[in-house]
Amino acid sequence: MKIICIGRNYGKHALELGNGIPEQPVIFCKPDTALLKNNEPFYHPDFSNDIHHEVELVIKIDKIGKSVLPNFSHQYYSSISLGIDFTARDIQNNLKAKGLPWELAKSFDHSAVVGEFVPLHNQDIQNIDFSLQKNGALVQKGNTSDMLFSVNEIICFVSQYMTLKTGDLIFTGTPEGVSKVSIGDRLEAFLGTQKLLDFLIK
Ligand code: MG
Repeated sequence: MKIICIGRNYGKHALELGNGIPEQPVIFCKPDTALLKNNEPFYHPDFSNDIHHEVELVIKIDKIGKSVLPNFSHQYYSSISLGIDFTARDIQNNLKAKGLPWELAKSFDHSAVVGEFVPLHNQDIQNIDFSLQKNGALVQKGNTSDMLFSVNEIICFVSQYMTLKTGDLIFTGTPEGVSKVSIGDRLEAFLGTQKLLDFLIK
């Protein structure tokens, strides 16, 4: 399986990092070794002093898709979760300054945290509230209506370049409010009022 991530998909987050608003989706991938599940603790790596949380809606792909047409994108997923796209911001800033790829900042072990997947039912995927608390204080709060590129547009776009396979995950971008995590922190992520993530930084 692969983990596809969308960068700068919420305008206020793009601006908080000093980036412009993208004209097409910004795509990067994480390997399967980046996965961290079952609310296991995240062990802070030594190579960064500025690991940021980015809470994101995560889509699980249900079937193989190549060059999916926009009107059919919704048939390729039926469950969602929340995830944390952990980012070594210090490393990313160095790489960005040199015009180099972001993998070392984005694709390290356990940098893709995912919660339990819940069925979508008849919810409008572009009107979902989600939030993140750090040590009990609200740090990020978003609604998927603020995505610059919708889930269905992302599936259509990505599948022109990469065949989507059953079990692939798509991290759909983070709203504003990203900040550094430290050893001892507790992160809790909520889909509406349902808690899907609750884990410690160790
Ligand atoms: Mg992200």
